[in-house]
Amino acid sequence: MKEIKIFSPGTIANVSCGFDALGCCLDTIGDEMIIRKTDKKGVQITKITGDDLPFETHKNVAGVAALALLEKYNKSIDYGFEIEIYKNIKPGSGIGSSAASAAGAVFGINKLLNEPFTAQELILFASKGEELVSDFPIADNVAPALLGGFTLVKGYDPLKVLKLPVMDDLYATILHPQIEIKTSESRAILPEKANLKDAVKQWANVGALVHALHTEDYDLFGSSLHDLIVEPYRSQLIPGFDQVVKTAKDNGALGSGISGSGPSIFSFCKGIQQAEKLRDKIKKVYKKADIPFHIYVSKINKKGIKLI
Ligand code: ADP
Repeated sequence: MKEIKIFSPGTIANVSCGFDALGCCLDTIGDEMIIRKTDKKGVQITKITGDDLPFETHKNVAGVAALALLEKYNKSIDYGFEIEIYKNIKPGSGIGSSAASAAGAVFGINKLLNEPFTAQELILFASKGEELVSDFPIADNVAPALLGGFTLVKGYDPLKVLKLPVMDDLYATILHPQIEIKTSESRAILPEKANLKDAVKQWANVGALVHALHTEDYDLFGSSLHDLIVEPYRSQLIPGFDQVVKTAKDNGALGSGISGSGPSIFSFCKGIQQAEKLRDKIKKVYKKADIPFHIYVSKINKKGIKLI
């Protein structure tokens, strides 16, 4: 195999109660990438469409993640890799734009090397790419992109990611207001300490959400989607947030929250019809906010990155 083409999906990190720990994978929103072996050693980014992102290997998360993988590959190779990125996920959207590139690069190179690395190792390499834009090798977006479904980052020392089961009929309606919120900016506004009473509710919700996924309990899942610690701060950066959440609640959504560091807002629904009905309602409501937006409906993708 000399070249592969992949679909690298968008992801929702945090999922309300699971700040920096939970994530899930989308399937209608994502980038395409081509990764090919070349005679020139090292890693080159040779094409980017859809956004104005750096071509320098060390400045693009895809390049940094690819180099992290090659550094750990202990066979000497007399070839290198070219990466083409066809962006559909806008950077700074909160739906894992940088993670899709980092995860896609390591997935593709691992395939072309005949899969010497495990999924956990790929998550680690991809997280090194994320470090370029997050100041920390955060794995809560790259893990669901690589594993699919819902994931929980159990810890970083050593990195351990759990893949959780997911209900067949779980859909997300995602509103992406076209304003950019940098992850660094939305981290800077967070308090250093959390209130203990809020923290107790928060970790009870994380446990309940994980149980709901295992027992396919949609109601418990929905009632666990609360974030008392981060959302009160970050929601202030998103115009119309409360109104979108209310519209979702009034129209049968299981629950809503900020996707990653925002500005995208997700609402989970049982079934595609419910999710599409909600999309139409939110469209109507958000038009009044006078901010351009995109809105998507996506099933939760159980497989993660795939060859196309
Ligand atoms: P998101 O949550 O949508 O990934 P981030 O703020 O975490 O948004 O990441 C976007 C930042 O990462 C931007 O500053 C962008 O320039 C930078 N970046 C570097 N390489 C890439 C890439 N391949 N894809 C997307 N963003 C990238």
